[in-house]
Amino acid sequence: MRRRWGIGLLLPARFLPDRSGAPAVAPPWTEPDRKIPDDLLTYPGEKRDLDEEQRFAESEPLNEFFSVHPEASEFIVDHGRNFIKPAVVKLARAVHRLRRATRMKPAAARPATSPADLTSALRIEAERIGLSRIGIANNDPKYTFPVTDAEQLPTVIVCLVEQDWELTQKIPSDEAESAAMFGYAEGMARTAQLAGFLKRLGYRAAPQGLTGDGLTIHYGVASGLGQLGLNGQLLTPEAGSRCRILLMTTDAELTLDEPIDFGLHKVCDECQACVRNCPVGAIPKTRKSYRGVVKAKLNTARCLPVVAQAAGCAICMKVCPVQRYGLDAILDHREKTGEILGVGTDELEGYDWPLDDRHYGPGETPQVGEEIMQNPDLVFDYGRKTPPPGVEPIRFTGPKHG
Ligand code: SF4
Ligand code: SF4
Repeated sequence: MRRRWGIGLLLPARFLPDRSGAPAVAPPWTEPDRKIPDDLLTYPGEKRDLDEEQRFAESEPLNEFFSVHPEASEFIVDHGRNFIKPAVVKLARAVHRLRRATRMKPAAARPATSPADLTSALRIEAERIGLSRIGIANNDPKYTFPVTDAEQLPTVIVCLVEQDWELTQKIPSDEAESAAMFGYAEGMARTAQLAGFLKRLGYRAAPQGLTGDGLTIHYGVASGLGQLGLNGQLLTPEAGSRCRILLMTTDAELTLDEPIDFGLHKVCDECQACVRNCPVGAIPKTRKSYRGVVKAKLNTARCLPVVAQAAGCAICMKVCPVQRYGLDAILDHREKTGEILGVGTDELEGYDWPLDDRHYGPGETPQVGEEIMQNPDLVFDYGRKTPPPGVEPIRFTGPKHG
């Protein structure tokens, strides 16, 4: 069996002192109560065709990216040493906590409580732990990978952790990518803590690692935490795509959340900053049905070589006004001017490109040469849909489940 990422080797790193200088995590978000203008409303969450989704789930089940493309993932990790290294100790401690929470046995007795009261207690605990917000959805086998690591229980708790604002504005850079790694580490550690809370109340809870055992963005939308941006990311009203998504399943009976219309589809249609600024034109400006979900499907074959070799790229996150300013500020500005805040300005759309050290302003994009797009060391078979023989999933949570 081929194993990747060396999680077992990573774990002893948790004994080292943490000298990462990781930024403090932002306080939990308050509930959004802003009325969305009627002219921005389209539909809650995403438009979906349930029969089409089911057909695809049966004929082409979803698989976790790193298992399907182990050669590409090795290349990415190898090229990402500079941003992974500062976060290694934090990641190792988080994986250790995840494994400890996984092994913990649930208490023998459960309190007599209603789903509404339990959900309310869970939200209070999530806030106390420092998660930005949680959402709750049904565990949907269509969006769970066939080969999974953590135990699959009926309900999914989606845990969001906002990543540092200042570091994110330095995209594309190793510093900004480290912010994402710190976010994952905090997210795993805090999700593990929330699992411990449920287990002490007698419920089963299975926290998942940073790659997730299912399509994290699907669950973010399903639980009303945000909507899909044209950039293919979960846009939340508070932090745009500047948050990490961690999943946990549980058998606790909880009140489910519903998809919400935050008006983000229309904001995207008026903005299109990511479409204009992607250096390789990987983002379409219109949506169409893909696996039964109406979305702007990124051209992965164009995006991946850039992500792997240009400090994670993520220009589509850097230039996103929702990420930088939050939805409230965008709505205020639009009400006064009819325009999307920041669009066309260097503050929002400008960035330094790590491959030539030049600054690019709004509408300017660097040339990405064949040496990047056709790098023979980056093996990426776009047509492959399932893990090649002998590849097993990354086992973040270890083999035992409490
Ligand atoms: S990560 Fe970079 S290459 Fe990929 S879609 Fe975003 S801007 Fe384009
Ligand atoms: S940059 Fe603009 S178009 Fe792209 S995801 Fe953000 S809001 Fe939507």
